[in-house]
Amino acid sequence: MIIAAGVLITPVLLSPIPAFRVPFSTVVEARDGSLLGARIADDGQWRFPGFEKVPEKFEKSLLAFEDRYFYWHPGINPVSIVRAFISNIKAGEIVSGGSTITMQVARISRGNRPRTYGEKFIEILSALKLELFRSKKKILQMYVANAPFGGNTVGLEAASWRYTGKSSAELTWAEAAALAILPNSPALVFPGKNQEILRARRDELLNRLHERNYIDSLTLVLALDEPLPGEPKNLPVKAPHLTDLFYMQNRGNMIRTTIDPLLQERATAIINAHQKNLAENYIFNSACIIVEVDSGNVLAYVGNSTLDDAGEHGGDVDIIRSQRSTGSILKPFLYAGMQYSGDILPNTLIADIPTRFPGFSPKNFDLKYRGAVSASLALSQSLNIPAVKMLQKYNPEKFLGLLHLTGFTTFNKPADHYGLSLILGGGETSLWDLTGAYASLSRVLNRYLSEKKYYKEDYHPPILVQGGKNTTALTEDTEPPLSASSIWLTYEALQNVNRPESESGWQYFASSRDLAWKTGTSFGFRDGWAVGTTPGFVIGVWAGNADGEGRPGLTGITAAAPILFDLVNLMEHREWFKTPYEDLTMINVCAESGCRAGPDCSETVEIPACINGLRSDACPYHQVIHLNRSKTYQVTSECTDPSDIINEPWFILPPAMEYFYRQKHPEYKVLPPVAPGCPVSKAITAMEFIYPTPGVKIFIPRDETGKQTRIITEVAHRNPSKKIFWHLDESYIGTTRYIHQIEILAGAGNHILTAVDEDGNSIRCSFEVIGR
Ligand SMILES: [Zn+2]
Repeated sequence: MIIAAGVLITPVLLSPIPAFRVPFSTVVEARDGSLLGARIADDGQWRFPGFEKVPEKFEKSLLAFEDRYFYWHPGINPVSIVRAFISNIKAGEIVSGGSTITMQVARISRGNRPRTYGEKFIEILSALKLELFRSKKKILQMYVANAPFGGNTVGLEAASWRYTGKSSAELTWAEAAALAILPNSPALVFPGKNQEILRARRDELLNRLHERNYIDSLTLVLALDEPLPGEPKNLPVKAPHLTDLFYMQNRGNMIRTTIDPLLQERATAIINAHQKNLAENYIFNSACIIVEVDSGNVLAYVGNSTLDDAGEHGGDVDIIRSQRSTGSILKPFLYAGMQYSGDILPNTLIADIPTRFPGFSPKNFDLKYRGAVSASLALSQSLNIPAVKMLQKYNPEKFLGLLHLTGFTTFNKPADHYGLSLILGGGETSLWDLTGAYASLSRVLNRYLSEKKYYKEDYHPPILVQGGKNTTALTEDTEPPLSASSIWLTYEALQNVNRPESESGWQYFASSRDLAWKTGTSFGFRDGWAVGTTPGFVIGVWAGNADGEGRPGLTGITAAAPILFDLVNLMEHREWFKTPYEDLTMINVCAESGCRAGPDCSETVEIPACINGLRSDACPYHQVIHLNRSKTYQVTSECTDPSDIINEPWFILPPAMEYFYRQKHPEYKVLPPVAPGCPVSKAITAMEFIYPTPGVKIFIPRDETGKQTRIITEVAHRNPSKKIFWHLDESYIGTTRYIHQIEILAGAGNHILTAVDEDGNSIRCSFEVIGR
């Protein structure tokens, strides 16, 4: 008996254990497990990975159809083998396999070789071995995951999606029964062919399920009435760019993302609807991403338009990951950084005057100069010159550090490479980094408001995969880059950004008022950005051409912002950020300059600001001047009886700022003239160079004949009717009146330009002309 047992067992032990080493499709799921999209496996099969649970309806149907005694037999069913053997002998060929599920697993794992007696013998041995080393549950799983379902569809899950358009967990009895039949004769599902055979077999199986009391008679009647699965359906394409991303990064896996499927669908519809209009202006691409603030989860990921013709215009490019010029979209980070450091207060006046640097001369979008403008207004109106002045004060290197700490990963060059143009789009970022950074800021503020504490791990990129790790750019010893109050003040300014035309009347809707947002337009109208945040979510939008072609009228406000506001309307309204009182301090500021109030400021107000704001510069603009009794002339004790002199604080901007500021501000009071016969006060500068500015290095281009072009120099005078006498390097070059501009020709090297007015006021400017 021992020998007999050995003869039986040894071949079983020596036979190979069936296993599957096959490539899988890449399957991307929404957060609720619904299918967003999939990519075919490398061997051209639709074979879904990670299939664990066999749905009950399918299991009952399969076993009723294929292998009633699956849970009782040892891998082979001798009765059916003998029966099959007899019928094959009678037929003279192999018509029946008499195979159990276990034997079929063995056969499929061997690549469905031709049915011979030798092959059948190996299958029997393998099946026995499988039963010895694997549980029934595991064997059933192996079958369900690898059975052929017709065409290039393998495994139940892929079959379920392709034939019924849903997950196998949601199959009806009729669908489960029809699918259970397919592996036995996968050719049955070809449309218009064999449908009657498939129907007959399905109905027979449903009746059998009823006889065995798995389904009641009503279920049977309804199931018999259901249509058959037809031609394989296309799998959902709800997030094609996301599916591509995982196909590249995580091929052959099933990825459960954080995507909200309904929001994804709606966001895609909004992008596509706007894309139709944008295309009229030859703007062919747009993208959006929605991130939940507290969790960091990505709720919607629309990497590009998915209109039918999108493929012809770069629609395959995942814009969310593409690096594009930032335009003005980084300005809020500079504002926040400067509030935190105390470099400025929320409404500190910033110069908005012609400003030139070597090879770089920033202009405002409207090409106008306001003379001076409050920092918050400069931010909400996205003025470029004040932004450059602010960056100059803050320091580009420090700003680059701030960008790194808040989550921007693409600014990899040293600060010198970008220079001051960094704040106007001299660098590139992605929607991914941008929305991630805004979400981090909002998260930090939310957490501070609830816990009065900062957590470094609150700074992290968006999260796409459920259970994904938070990685932060902040190390153990880095201080949090921004404070709650600096973020809150920035959002206050960003609530006042002008809305696009379609949003006129927005201020009447409480919900749309509660959005801090910013647009950006890159140089050459190549990129239109819009990003907005509430305490609950951040939305980032980009519009433009994937190939980088610029279009007139392609701006953040016209192309991207309307999409942003449509997306905002999809979101649940959440109460606006509360004021972080504990992190704010009340500072007495000059009402006119927004600076910390100095002793001579005539009117002051208390405003909330960051604590470091207490160290900010005091108002430099208010000075006490001496007037005659009728306040019509400036006087001094040298020409007037001291008892007749009135001392009065006066708001005096430097001449260049004043020159532009008074054009926009009729309430600005210019200084009264100096009384005839009185000496001119030297305390108040009468003139200022607009260009060149002292210490500037000038690169002068040559014209087409190779001659050096001239430099147009300009001075602002408080009283333009005064004559100005110009000298270059001590040589007289001309006189101006009213419009104080003069052309000069200066070779490479250092120069001194001097301007003297008829009252004897004199200013000097040394500058350097750089040769080739
Ligand atoms: Zn003041």
